[in-house]
Amino acid sequence: MDFELNEEQEMFRAMVRDFVANEIEPYATEWDETNEFPYATVKKMAELGLYTVGLPEEYGGMGDELTFAIASEEISRGSGGLGISYIVSLGLAMYPITMHGTTEQKAKYIARLAEGETVAFALTEAMAGSDVGNLEMRYEREGDSFILNGTKIFITNGAEADFLTTFATKDRSLGHKGFSAFVVEKGTPGFSVGKLERKMGIHPASAAELVFDNCRIPAENLIGEEGKGFRIAMEAIDASRVTIASQAVGIAQAAYDAAVAYAKERKQFGVEIARHQGIQFMIADMATELDAARLLTYRAAWLTQEQGKSPLKEAAMAKLYASEAAHRICHKAVQIHGGYGYTREFPVERYYRDQRITEIYEGTSEMQRWTIARQITGTR
Ligand SMILES: Cc1cc2nc3c(=O)[nH]c(=O)nc-3n(C[C@H](O)[C@H](O)[C@H](O)COP(=O)(O)OP(=O)(O)OC[C@H]3O[C@@H](n4cnc5c(N)ncnc54)[C@H](O)[C@@H]3O)c2cc1C
Repeated sequence: MDFELNEEQEMFRAMVRDFVANEIEPYATEWDETNEFPYATVKKMAELGLYTVGLPEEYGGMGDELTFAIASEEISRGSGGLGISYIVSLGLAMYPITMHGTTEQKAKYIARLAEGETVAFALTEAMAGSDVGNLEMRYEREGDSFILNGTKIFITNGAEADFLTTFATKDRSLGHKGFSAFVVEKGTPGFSVGKLERKMGIHPASAAELVFDNCRIPAENLIGEEGKGFRIAMEAIDASRVTIASQAVGIAQAAYDAAVAYAKERKQFGVEIARHQGIQFMIADMATELDAARLLTYRAAWLTQEQGKSPLKEAAMAKLYASEAAHRICHKAVQIHGGYGYTREFPVERYYRDQRITEIYEGTSEMQRWTIARQITGTR
């Protein structure tokens, strides 16, 4: 068993880490304060080729699942908000197109993504959160078009997206078999961005309401076969779990690094607080959980690469453990900073806020436990 990254992956990590140190970390607090989406940084990331990682080689893609996990971790280490925007654009939102799109759809949209266009994945609705099958957004065919009617909520990149993938039902009585997947372009008549959520964290990435009011799209914007939308949505979420685990690992790493540095600097009772056993035990637990989270995440990424699809149980374990470990690590990082940890003078409070969502989106911790248990017991 080899626990080392190969030379290419190590070089890639060093390149991304360098970029994050120069182009993301210095600005992350400002983006958090202003809710600003860093368009210029996204373009620079595209110039580095970061928006081609893990995509099919025939469309200019490079690297594998583990490379995507490394990029997601490093970017999230600098900014959890930019991290999730990247993960959604390149992974979750593009998956329906890269795995089920026509050759024309792949060529067109992968090229636009590689240029640094932003993509959203619009599935959640007011009555369809964990219970994704309860979608109400409707579509109907009219000649060479589909007409979409409904409202999506909480959509990451929703306000910025140049195009998005979305899901609607032809007839709710058909259950999952009524769902189809579509791509919708920004500026399509009948499509608009509604309310923007005021969130606890990940401020640079919007969470937007998207309104489809008799939104007419060409029939060629159907993704995959009609009636296969539920499966496409589920596959996309399954595939994306590993990168959410990576996001959690990245944020946790940032919190851990900050806590260790602070503990070696801050003196109380005449010595650095790192000398107090109470602090040492916290650091030991943080380091151990961080390693365990990263190993579970890399295993799931490696299995995805080996099997050509996401391993349900192992990916859910990685997302569940990494997000909850990140919670504990960020909590301890604030504790180690004492009163300063509760202020905006230090970034640990941002890590604490940014981390929290990793336990909720793309399947809550409860949904991950459900997935793991069903895989083990064979129950539904
Ligand atoms: C910042 C942010 C960004 C997001 N980005 C996107 C996006 O880009 N695209 C998108 O489509 N969606 C997105 N979402 C939506 C997100 O995926 C959902 O919020 C999430 O899946 C949970 O759904 P819900 O909020 O409706 O909670 P609910 O499903 O109402 O869950 C409420 C609580 O009940 C629990 N629960 C529900 N059912 C069960 C059960 N059977 N057993 C045990 N416990 C249960 C849940 O675990 C949770 O604790 C985003 C949300 C946020 C907050």
